[in-house]
Amino acid sequence: MARELFTARLAHKECISEVAQCYHFVFVIDELESFPYTAGQFVSAVAEDANGKMQTRAYSIASAPSGNRFELCVNRVEEGFFSNHLADLPDLPIGSKIQIHGPHGHFVLQEPSTDSIFIATGTGVAPMRGYTQWLFPPESGPEAGPDRSQGKQICLVYGTRYETDIYYREEFEALEKRKPNFHYLPTLSRASESWGGLREHVQVHVGRIVEERAAQLGLPLPQPAPDPAIPAAELKFDIYAYICGLNFMVSSVRDQLAGFGWHRKQIVFERYD
Ligand SMILES: Cc1cc2nc3c(=O)[nH]c(=O)nc-3n(C[C@H](O)[C@H](O)[C@H](O)COP(=O)(O)OP(=O)(O)OC[C@H]3O[C@@H](n4cnc5c(N)ncnc54)[C@H](O)[C@@H]3O)c2cc1C
Repeated sequence: MARELFTARLAHKECISEVAQCYHFVFVIDELESFPYTAGQFVSAVAEDANGKMQTRAYSIASAPSGNRFELCVNRVEEGFFSNHLADLPDLPIGSKIQIHGPHGHFVLQEPSTDSIFIATGTGVAPMRGYTQWLFPPESGPEAGPDRSQGKQICLVYGTRYETDIYYREEFEALEKRKPNFHYLPTLSRASESWGGLREHVQVHVGRIVEERAAQLGLPLPQPAPDPAIPAAELKFDIYAYICGLNFMVSSVRDQLAGFGWHRKQIVFERYD
């Protein structure tokens, strides 16, 4: 069955890291009054390449639902077609258009809210931005809404190489100041000497969070396996991990959490490659 294609008009484009060539985009679907999706889902963008072949690529939505708009965070991939096509879209006032279908995907927050570790590298931060906007809407202005976190502890562990590539840093730092149950942990693998924050890969900090939490709650690690009599779909967990980025990181963190005894249903992930 043919998928319904929407035309999305570029309303705003901003380079958020010159070094990493990463762009933030705001698109508006003029033909719709609202574009409903769940934070964490992706859209499929469609365009013709230089050989006249239709190309489709997935892009996580980097915002929480808001009217007929959605936002993306895309970095240029060397020799890549679609990432460069988007990065080269002319800025306003031209109002370039792209074709998309969606929303798609199951990389969404589990209900009811639980303590959560969001783990991302690079543009894998996009769905995490959607999650945090949904959980912690602003207290005033047009996007204002109730806090949906239910007081659960939400950690965002964000790994990148350099200080220049910490996408949306000011937003997450402001959110951490506003919400005592949101914890922002950017960590750099190739930090300069002057960097006063966390270093190393995300796994180091994920391991520490899991160990400290188990110690605080007096829980054993590895966790005991759930009762096999309970069907997997009915298992209830008090913490989930959400992992997004390139496969080598996603697989490594999944293995790490499995080593702590985490159940596969507690580990929700999206791979970009
Ligand atoms: C569900 C899903 C959501 C995605 N969301 C995003 C997103 O929010 N932002 C985003 O920038 N990309 C995202 N991607 C990746 C995106 O779909 C494209 O693969 C990427 O833009 C490269 O496409 P291209 O046509 O430029 O290059 P191609 O010629 O198709 O790809 C070249 C190679 O680049 C690698 N690659 C893919 N993504 C990246 C990346 N982000 N950084 C470095 N190397 C990469 C892959 O190994 C791929 O084989 C997502 C992928 C999936 C499956």
